[in-house]
Amino acid sequence: MSASEFAAKLRVMTVDIGIIGLGAMGSAAAWSLALRGATVLGVDRHPLGHALGSSHGKTRIIRSVYSEGNIYDALVDEAYAGWDRLEREFGQAFFRKTGGLDISVRADGIFQEALAAAKTSGKPFEVLEGQAIEQRFPALDLNGRGRAVYNADAGLLDSDEASAWMRADAIRRGADLRGETPVAGWQRVSDGFILKAGDEEITCRKLIMAAGAWCGALVPALQPVLVPERQVIAWYRADGASYDSLPIFQLETDTAERFYVFPPHRGQGLKAGLYNHRRERGAAHIAPRGVDEDDLALLAAGLSDCLPGVDQTPLETAECRFTLAPGDRFIMGCMPDDKDLVLLSPCSGHGYKFVPAIGEIAADLALEKDPAVDLAPFSVERVLS
Ligand SMILES: Cc1cc2nc3c(=O)[nH]c(=O)nc-3n(C[C@H](O)[C@H](O)[C@H](O)COP(=O)(O)OP(=O)(O)OC[C@H]3O[C@@H](n4cnc5c(N)ncnc54)[C@H](O)[C@@H]3O)c2cc1C
Repeated sequence: MSASEFAAKLRVMTVDIGIIGLGAMGSAAAWSLALRGATVLGVDRHPLGHALGSSHGKTRIIRSVYSEGNIYDALVDEAYAGWDRLEREFGQAFFRKTGGLDISVRADGIFQEALAAAKTSGKPFEVLEGQAIEQRFPALDLNGRGRAVYNADAGLLDSDEASAWMRADAIRRGADLRGETPVAGWQRVSDGFILKAGDEEITCRKLIMAAGAWCGALVPALQPVLVPERQVIAWYRADGASYDSLPIFQLETDTAERFYVFPPHRGQGLKAGLYNHRRERGAAHIAPRGVDEDDLALLAAGLSDCLPGVDQTPLETAECRFTLAPGDRFIMGCMPDDKDLVLLSPCSGHGYKFVPAIGEIAADLALEKDPAVDLAPFSVERVLS
C-alpha cells in the first residue's frame, strides 16, 4: 500500500484531551475530566477492566496513618474526601472501614515507621503490644511477640467496582473510552499530539500518559526510572466471626518484610499478599507467567506466621505488577519540557487509595488549573534530574 493510500485509510479524530491507559489512574482522570465537561478520548491496549496491569484484584487497602512519609498527608485527606464524594455520587459503598494494623515482631521497621507517622499526622491511632493484639483480634496468633499501631480509619476499597463505575459514568457523560486499542506510537506536533492507534490517528491538545508499567516504552526518558515488578495475591477460605472482624493489616516478621492481609469480604475469602513478593523486576516480568508453587509457599509462610488456622489451599490466585519508581514515590505532573504532557505514575504498590484525588489532579493539570495538592515532591523533574 502506498503512503497516500495508507493516509487515506487512516481515520483522524480530534479531541481536547487524550489518555493512554485506562487502568485505575487513567479511568479516574477520564471521570474527573468528563465531570468537568472536557472532550476526552481514552484508550487501553487491553479490554477495559482487564487483569494484565496493576489495578485488578477486587480490593485495595486505604489507611490514614501513612508511614510512606508526610509528603502524602495532603493526598490522604483528599483521598478520604474523594471516596466520600464518589460514594455519594454513585450511591455505592466502595469503602469498608475495618480498621488497620501495622505490626512488627522485631524492633525496627513498620511499627516504628507507623508510630512516627501516627504521632505527626494527627490521625486516630492506638498502640497494641504483645497479647493485647491477639485479645483484640482473636484470629491472629503472633506468639505474643507483636507490636502494632492500630488505625481506626483504615479499611478496604472495592477497587475493581469503583473503577468500573468511574469508566461507565465517564462514558455516560460523553467520554470516548476504548479497550483493545493499543497506541503504537505518539508524536508531538505544534498544537498538540498525534496518537497512532490501529487504523486511527487521534489528535489531542493535551495528553495524559497513564500507561502503568508500560510508560517507559512510550516515554523513553522514563524507561530507567520506572521498573515493573511481578506480584502475586491469593484468596483463602476463612470462615467465622474471628476472621470477619479482622482489620486489614501489614505484618513484618523475622523473614518477611511486609505480608498483608484483607479480612474475608463479600464472599471473596481472606486475601493475602507479600509486598514486593519475590522481587522479580524488569520488563521480562510484565507478562503474566502463572502462579506457581514457590509463589504460594511464600504466602503460606506468611499465613503460618499470623493466621495458623487458615487453610493454606487458595480459593483463587492472581498475578499483577507494581510499577516501582525511585524511593517508591509517585511521579505525577507535567513533563519538564512539555507542559501539555501529563504523566501519572502513582503505583509502587500503594497508589489505588488516592484514585479520586489523582483523577482531580490529572484533570487540573490537563485543564491548566492549580491542583489542590502540592506536587513538588512527586515531580517528573525530581526523577529525571
Ligand atoms: C498486588 C497489588 C496490590 C496493591 N495494593 C494496593 C493497596 O492495597 N492499596 C493501594 O492504595 N494501592 C495498591 N496497589 C497499587 C495500585 O493498585 C496501583 O497504584 C494502581 O493500580 C496503578 O494504576 P495505573 O492506572 O497506574 O496502572 P495500570 O492499572 O497498569 O494501568 C495502565 C494501563 O495502561 C495500558 N497501556 C499500557 N500501554 C498502552 C498502550 N501502548 N496503549 C494503550 N494502553 C496502554 C495498560 O493496558 C493498562 O491498562 C497495589 C498494586 C498491586 C499490583
